[in-house]
Amino acid sequence: MTPDLMEAGARTMAAHQSLAKGGLAGEEAYFGQGVALYVDGITVSFDGFRALNNLSLTIDVGELRCIIGPNGAGKTTMMDCITGKTRPDSGKVYFGSNIDLLRLTEPQIAQIGVGRKFQKPTVYEQLSVFENLELALRADRRVRASLFSRLSGEQLDRIAEVLLLIHLKDDAQRTAGLLSHGQKQWLEIGMLLMQDPKLLLLDEPVAGMTDEETERTAELFLSLEGKHSLVVVEHDMKFVDQLTEGCKKVTVLHEGSVLAEGLLADVQANEKVVEVYLGR
Ligand code: ADP
Ligand code: MG
Repeated sequence: MTPDLMEAGARTMAAHQSLAKGGLAGEEAYFGQGVALYVDGITVSFDGFRALNNLSLTIDVGELRCIIGPNGAGKTTMMDCITGKTRPDSGKVYFGSNIDLLRLTEPQIAQIGVGRKFQKPTVYEQLSVFENLELALRADRRVRASLFSRLSGEQLDRIAEVLLLIHLKDDAQRTAGLLSHGQKQWLEIGMLLMQDPKLLLLDEPVAGMTDEETERTAELFLSLEGKHSLVVVEHDMKFVDQLTEGCKKVTVLHEGSVLAEGLLADVQANEKVVEVYLGR
């Protein structure tokens, strides 16, 4: 084995171990009422400043919900509360009708099916696109595969399916570090998809993307709708318009609460929304 290969192996192993941390025995969300996420009256204070102020919202199973609002409205803090990064001072957060997310750790929340995409892509730059997806698959605790065992036909099919979805089929053997910014974002989404999350949280996913990449990302999200619930925080109104297809609900956050909720055309015409966010 060359030093290069050994180093790559050690890196893969370390990444695998960091991804696989945490564990949760036999917990599964129940989506009986068609509700994927239930946030009820959460408040988060930082040194007396209320980043979230009695925020409530419900996301249905299979729904694609866009969240908009000015900088500092609390959008990222809301995602931090759902994923266990921040504990609210009060309120409830339920996944399905039975899982109280406020009593789980960050890795446990990821493991039961809540995937989160941060603004900055965090792929393993030295590994190929395929290896990144493979790593994400092996980090899934439901998959009984050790790091060096061969992938099953089913697992290879799943990787091929995700490569197609994220428009990277022809780049499977490319080193991830050489991808464009937009492609890295897609790869990270692909890595999340390998774990088949029920709920996907995406914080400003098209920031820094070209117009064409943005449009393709909207197509990708629309193809995930129904199979997954998606919460997308975004400022790009053209992108939000493409995602909502004129018929989906949008939520406007302001000063830590819901300012308005409804069709994009309606919230865009809402005086309060124009005043605090969209401008005149
Ligand atoms: P958004 O994502 O909508 O732009 P954030 O959730 O990032 O807003 O921030 C909401 C408010 O909370 C902002 O005023 C921000 O400065 C503040 N905030 C966020 N995180 C922290 C923190 N860890 N400590 C102090 N203030 C914070
Ligand atoms: Mg933010």
